[in-house]
Amino acid sequence: MAESQLPSRAVVPPISGELTVTSPVDGTVIAAVPNMTDAEVATLAARLRAAQPEWEALGTRGRGKWLGQLRDWILDNETHLMSLIQQETGKVYGDASIEPSYGLMVLNYWIKNAGEFLRDGRPKPASPTQLTKQLTVSYRPFPLVGVISPWNWPLVMPLLDIPAALMAGCAVLSKPSELTPLTWLEVVRGWREDIGAPDVLGCATGAGTTGRAVVDAVDMVQFTGSVRTGRAVAARAGERLIPCSLELGGKDPMIVLNDADIERTSGGAVWGAFVNAGQGCIAIERAYVEAGIYDDFVREVVSRTNALRVGTDIDAPFTADIGAMSSEAQLAIVERHVDDAVAKGAKVLAGGKRKPGPGFYYLPTVLVDVDHTMDIMREETFGPVLPIMKVPDAESALALANDSAFGLSGSVWTKDRRKGEALAERLEVGGGCVNNVCMTNFQLPLPSGGWKDSGIGARFGAAGGIRKYTRAQARVSERVEAKSEAHWYPFTPFKGGLIAKGSRFIEARDWRRRLGRSAGR
Ligand code: NAD
Repeated sequence: MAESQLPSRAVVPPISGELTVTSPVDGTVIAAVPNMTDAEVATLAARLRAAQPEWEALGTRGRGKWLGQLRDWILDNETHLMSLIQQETGKVYGDASIEPSYGLMVLNYWIKNAGEFLRDGRPKPASPTQLTKQLTVSYRPFPLVGVISPWNWPLVMPLLDIPAALMAGCAVLSKPSELTPLTWLEVVRGWREDIGAPDVLGCATGAGTTGRAVVDAVDMVQFTGSVRTGRAVAARAGERLIPCSLELGGKDPMIVLNDADIERTSGGAVWGAFVNAGQGCIAIERAYVEAGIYDDFVREVVSRTNALRVGTDIDAPFTADIGAMSSEAQLAIVERHVDDAVAKGAKVLAGGKRKPGPGFYYLPTVLVDVDHTMDIMREETFGPVLPIMKVPDAESALALANDSAFGLSGSVWTKDRRKGEALAERLEVGGGCVNNVCMTNFQLPLPSGGWKDSGIGARFGAAGGIRKYTRAQARVSERVEAKSEAHWYPFTPFKGGLIAKGSRFIEARDWRRRLGRSAGR
C-alpha cells in the first residue's frame, strides 16, 4: 500500500502485498504484506536450507555472536519496534514493553547456555558386559525448523522459540500471524539487511494456507496458537512424520484461599486477568474464591477494575491500562461469552460491554454468580473478563479448577505457602504459581508447556528447551578391538554357554540364580 495512506505517526515499512493489516485502535488499514503461496514458501525454505550447514558449522560460539548482534539490534531499535507492536496490536505501552525485555532475556539465556546444553554426553555403559564401549550422545540440529506464532505478542512470541532453534544450529522459517506480521517482519529484515547475518532466518507472511505450507516445508515445527489449529498442525506433522511441539490455549484458574493477602491477591487478579486486554494464554480466565474472603475479594477487585483506563496511549505512553483487542472476531467471542453467562444468571459488577466509539475495545469486566454451565467458565475467552465463583472450601476449588479440557497454568493464593504448594501440585496444569500469576513462563530453567488440550511438549526448561530442536545421535565406539565378538558367527554351544553364564552371573541378584541353580521347570 502507498505510504501516504499510513497514519502520520507510522513507522510501518512500506511493504506491498495482498494481506492488509488493520489498526485495532480505529479499524483503518495500516499496511499490507505478501500473502505467500505454497511455491513461495518452498523457495524460501530451500534458500534457508542451503545456508544451514555453514550455520551449524559455526558452533554455538559462532552462532552466539550473531544472536548477540540481534540482541543489540533489538535494543538499538526498541522504540521503532514498540511503535510497530502498538500499531498492529492496539495494545497499551505497558503491555508492549513486556515484549522486548522478555525477548532479550530469552536471547541471552540461550546465547549463554546453549554450548553447555548441547555438549556431547558421555554416559557410562549400563552393564559391565559393555565396559569396552565408549558411549557418546550428540545433538545434531533439524536442518529447518518452522516457528508459527499467534498475534497476541508479535515480537516476543517468535523470540520465545527462535533463539533456541538458531542456537541449536537450525535454520528457521518463521510465520507470524496474519493479523500482526509487521514487527517480526521488521526483525527479520534487520537480521538480514542491518546485521548482515547468515541467511538462516526467513519470514513467511500470510494466513492459514501459508502456515500449512510452512508445516509442509520444514523438518520440525514449533507451533503456538489455538487448539483447533494446533490439532491441524499435529495431524499434518503426523502425516509427514515430523515432530511438532504445540503451545496452545488455556483457561487458567486462580484459587483464592481464606487466608490470602487481600491487597496482593486482588492486585494480582486484576493484572493477571486484564493484562494485554486479557489476550494472554496464561491470563487468569476464572477465579474460585473461598467463602470467607469472597466478599472482600470481590469488592477490592471491582474497585481496582473500575479504576483502569481503557484506550490507546500510542502517543503518550502509560496513559492507558487496557488497550484494544486484536480483532473484531476476538471481540465477538468475548461478547458471546459474557452474553451467555448473563443469560444463564451471571451478574455483571464491572464492564460487560464494548467501549463506545471506534476500535476493538471491550471494557474490563467482572462477573459473579457464575457456574460451569456457562461458556465463560469452560471455553477460552481470551479477553478482559474475570468471572469469580464462590466456593465452600479449597477441595471444591481444586475440583472445579481441574474440571477443564485445558491445562496450561494456574495459581493458588494463600499466606500458607506450604499449603499453596501442595494445592498447586494437584492442579492439572503444566505450570503452577503460588501467590503470583503468569510467572512460570518467565522462569527459563523451568519447562513451560500445557497439559491436556493446552499442548504437547514445552519451551524452555534448560537443556530440554534446546535439545528439542535437535536429533540425538547415539554413537558407540570400541575401546578394545578383539578379532571377533562372542555373539558373532559361528554360533557354537561353547560360546553360547559362555554368554548365557556370564549374563546370568552379572544380571542375577542372588547367588542361587547367579550360579545357575534353577528352582523352576
Ligand atoms: P491461530 O491458531 O488462529 O493462529 C496461530 C498461527 O497459526 C497463525 O500464524 C496462523 O496464520 C497459523 N495457522 C492457521 N491455520 C494454520 C494451519 N492449518 N497450519 C499452520 N498454521 C496455521 O491462533 P491465534 O488466534 O493467532 O492465537 C490465539 C491462540 O494462541 C489462543 O488460543 C492462545 O491461547 C494461544 N496462545 C498460546 C500460547 C502458549 O504459549 N501456550 C501463547 C500465546 C497464544
